[in-house]
Amino acid sequence: MNFDFKIYKRDNTKEDWYDPLCSNEFTEYTYLKCLDCDYEEEIELDILLECCDSKKFSYPSMVCPHCNKGNFIPKDIYYKIKDNNLKN
Ligand SMILES: [Zn+2]
Repeated sequence: MNFDFKIYKRDNTKEDWYDPLCSNEFTEYTYLKCLDCDYEEEIELDILLECCDSKKFSYPSMVCPHCNKGNFIPKDIYYKIKDNNLKN
């Protein structure tokens, strides 16, 4: 899977709850931003990818928890779409 947005890694080994036997060393996450209301939130990549069908869409999108519209998308793609809108 090759999405065009930035993935961040959180080092779990420094967390209090980290257990080498059953925890991942890193959590991958990214930031989502809503095209409609500009609401922004950090989300784990696993959760994001579970909620989207990558074969249908070139980028994942979720329902925005703030305005309930389905335009809650990775921040990098948000800015690309906004930039395109400005140029057109
Ligand atoms: Zn929204």
